[in-house]
Amino acid sequence: MKPDCIDLYSDTQTRPTPGMRAAMAQAVVGDEQSDDDPTTLQLCETVADLLGLEAGVFMPSGTMCNLVAILTHTRPGDELICDHQSHIYGTEAAGAAALAGVSICALPSPHGIFDVQQVIDAIRPATRTAPRSTLLTAEQTTNFSGGAVWPLPQLQAVRDAAHLHGLKCHLDGARLLNATAATGIAAAEYAAGWDSAWIDLSKGLGCPVGAVLCGSADFVRDAWQWKYRLGGAMRQSGILAAAGLYALEHHVEQLKDDHAHAQAIWRRLSACDLFRFDPARPSTNILRFTFDPESINAERFAERCRSEGVRVRAIGGNFIRVTTHLDVTAQDAETASQIMLSVARAMAMRA
Ligand SMILES: *Cc1c(COP(=O)(O)O)cnc(C)c1O
Repeated sequence: MKPDCIDLYSDTQTRPTPGMRAAMAQAVVGDEQSDDDPTTLQLCETVADLLGLEAGVFMPSGTMCNLVAILTHTRPGDELICDHQSHIYGTEAAGAAALAGVSICALPSPHGIFDVQQVIDAIRPATRTAPRSTLLTAEQTTNFSGGAVWPLPQLQAVRDAAHLHGLKCHLDGARLLNATAATGIAAAEYAAGWDSAWIDLSKGLGCPVGAVLCGSADFVRDAWQWKYRLGGAMRQSGILAAAGLYALEHHVEQLKDDHAHAQAIWRRLSACDLFRFDPARPSTNILRFTFDPESINAERFAERCRSEGVRVRAIGGNFIRVTTHLDVTAQDAETASQIMLSVARAMAMRA
């Protein structure tokens, strides 16, 4: 069924294509829980190779990748360090606290990209009274802070600083392939030296379900036990893994089109002085903006756009997030831009 609007709410809103559905229907399957599903095994191996890591485990969601990685790398009473707008901190129902017993030290940063000194300052002294800093996480690309790409040297520098102090490092690569599409730097280069890393299949890659968490063989063995405990072990998951394999073959190149569409929307909207972009321009498939005058309310803007046939997301702080993906054409981007412009202009007149 076609959605009844141009859906820029998230790149999770894609529908499986006919080719993907056919691949799913034909998947060879077995029992994932006993390592007997050939398609799932193939997907895990493919993603581990892509990330240059030893092994992988298929997960129902990216949220479970993060949670399982936290559970595997830490003990209750530990503290993890991440950005203040990261998915782990604000959008996972406090799973780190509720299920891993881990507190979070959230670093302020402009676009989800913090620096080495912040990491060093955040690491607690080894005393009886302080929580133990044991894990650093970073998002590549950043999500709610606007789709920014960590420059490789800075990503390596925060990783090295954390390792030097004995912390483990976990790369939330929900949109890692978007970073690669934007910079040409291989996913394996970004993931090199991280103790765990994952990619989401259900975002820009267009799958209905799934993510793959990778790391060393020892890490994956322990992660598997947490996945099982949490009820994440599956049976004939090859049906879902087949979508992932299909996407890795057919949907990676098109991430560049998504980025071009984000640029096209940015060019149209930034020509109008009602929009304030932050970051100043998009690097990937995510745009984030607020308004000038501030009296234009983001929630109301999203409602008005929705009634005109465009769905965008108000993400707090009077910001709007717009996300392009597989189901957004160049024409959709143009139409959506026109609608967003006219809604903002109408709201400014009444402000
Ligand atoms: C979407 C997202 C997640 C969670 O992935 P789900 O598959 O939606 O559970 C985690 N981290 C980042 C950066 C994300 O964008």
